[in-house]
Amino acid sequence: MRTIVWFRRDLRLADNPALAAGVERGEVVPVFVIDPKLIQSGRVGEKRIAWLVANLKALDESLRERGSRLIVRRGEPAQTLWQLAQETQAAQVLFNLDVTPYARRRDRRVALELEKQGLSVEVFDDVTLHQPEDVVTMTGRPYQVFTAFKRAWLMLPKPAAEETAAIPDRLPLSIPTIDSLPIDFGAAAIDLPPAGERAAIDRLNDFLEKTIVGYGAGRNMLDRAGTSFISPYLRFGALSIRQAYWGAQAAIELAKDKPAKAGAESWLNELIWREFYMALLYHFPHTIDQPLREQYTDFRWLADEEAFIAWREGRTGYPVVDAAMRCLSATGWLHNRARMVVASFLTKDLLIDWRKGERYFMQHLIDGDSASNAGGWQWAAGVGADAQPFFRVFNPTLQGQRFDPQGDFVRRWLPELARVPDRLVHEPWKMSPAEQRDAGCVIGRDYPAPIIDHHYARDRALQHYRHSRTRALA
Ligand SMILES: Cc1cc2nc3c(=O)[nH]c(=O)nc-3n(C[C@H](O)[C@H](O)[C@H](O)COP(=O)(O)OP(=O)(O)OC[C@H]3O[C@@H](n4cnc5c(N)ncnc54)[C@H](O)[C@@H]3O)c2cc1C
Repeated sequence: MRTIVWFRRDLRLADNPALAAGVERGEVVPVFVIDPKLIQSGRVGEKRIAWLVANLKALDESLRERGSRLIVRRGEPAQTLWQLAQETQAAQVLFNLDVTPYARRRDRRVALELEKQGLSVEVFDDVTLHQPEDVVTMTGRPYQVFTAFKRAWLMLPKPAAEETAAIPDRLPLSIPTIDSLPIDFGAAAIDLPPAGERAAIDRLNDFLEKTIVGYGAGRNMLDRAGTSFISPYLRFGALSIRQAYWGAQAAIELAKDKPAKAGAESWLNELIWREFYMALLYHFPHTIDQPLREQYTDFRWLADEEAFIAWREGRTGYPVVDAAMRCLSATGWLHNRARMVVASFLTKDLLIDWRKGERYFMQHLIDGDSASNAGGWQWAAGVGADAQPFFRVFNPTLQGQRFDPQGDFVRRWLPELARVPDRLVHEPWKMSPAEQRDAGCVIGRDYPAPIIDHHYARDRALQHYRHSRTRALA
């Protein structure tokens, strides 16, 4: 039987449930559909599109090595798949599910339309290790607190690595001519990491061999590569969450001492945060652009466009914030600590709506993921599940001093601070005029003075949040 396997955010051959099922049934027609609605949604930028293209090319290469190739089409998915089914005489369409509200609506529509036309449609779970509906309380309600979610998640039986179907050496596609678009839309505006599932596994293995032992202590440091950098690979599924989990589990079992075990457990904890945010978005789809905590629905954010632009462009005068924003713009990726600091600065110091920051991140991150991004932003703004409480406002200077003590991270992205003395690199406005001259960095000329005094901003944020809570209770 000929089967269409519709690839979406699962761009790999290994451990791919829909593909494995298709292969078992016979000849597979692998397809990726460029959905113009998604591309034009304003939530995707050129960096992530370029990353997607790089991963599509890698998938196409892997398929070609096995006698197949990736068919790329553009259009409304249901129509496009129906058209392809007619051309290839495929009787079935298989695909792995996603959790975002848009994907779920689209998938329901696609399945209905195709079934109406007489095609059989089968869907598979893939994007999370446990389905959101499986990690619920005794009474079937979703968890809103991470520790409770984690406890329940850990108790569920896990899939075993040995049970995954091997990818066949050959995946022959016997139809000689099927129209396919060239995989060259979207030019890379940045240097991208190596794409595809081989690169993803190499990245994971490198992390497991060298870095995970020190992850507990190193994961927050901005001045080193102390994290795995697998988020871009998870985003389009060059790596599966199960592959990451099996790596974490092996590292826990093989740990030689307590710190190594703690490092591996702490990394697994982060993978579970991803599952938690996916489950939240699944159960509370409105949280893609509404706070989970209703009392913040009418929070009065400030409409300060000038401050937003300064934040976006890395011109706030706080080095750790500015370095992070320039790093994001130049690479499409940002360390978790830096994400937390810039999100806190935007929402608490500047009192700008978290949705503006969330959208900006979605437009620039190569790993931009609606669940983790909305979850992370709501956490930082204090309006989400298990969120950073509103009275905890990160001090950007202290964050910089603690997590980038020598200023290596900020100097990398802010060359104008290259010669600022270490002790003042996170508060360069404190340099004397002579120090500014010696460092070649005159505040207000070469680097901005802080756009807001943090202590004033903190008090203002606390007052603002208190008023908002009182209003919500009234
Ligand atoms: C404001 C904000 C926005 C964020 N936006 C995104 C986003 O769009 N896409 C995204 O993948 N992550 C997002 N995160 C989570 C986190 O910052 C990244 O997953 C992490 O920095 C990726 O780097 P890594 O792969 O080296 O992570 P590691 O530290 O090696 O962690 C391994 C994996 O665990 C998961 N993970 C780690 N931390 C978190 C977290 N706090 N929440 C959810 N999952 C986590 C990721 O899948 C990550 O790849 C956001 C966090 C914040 C605070």
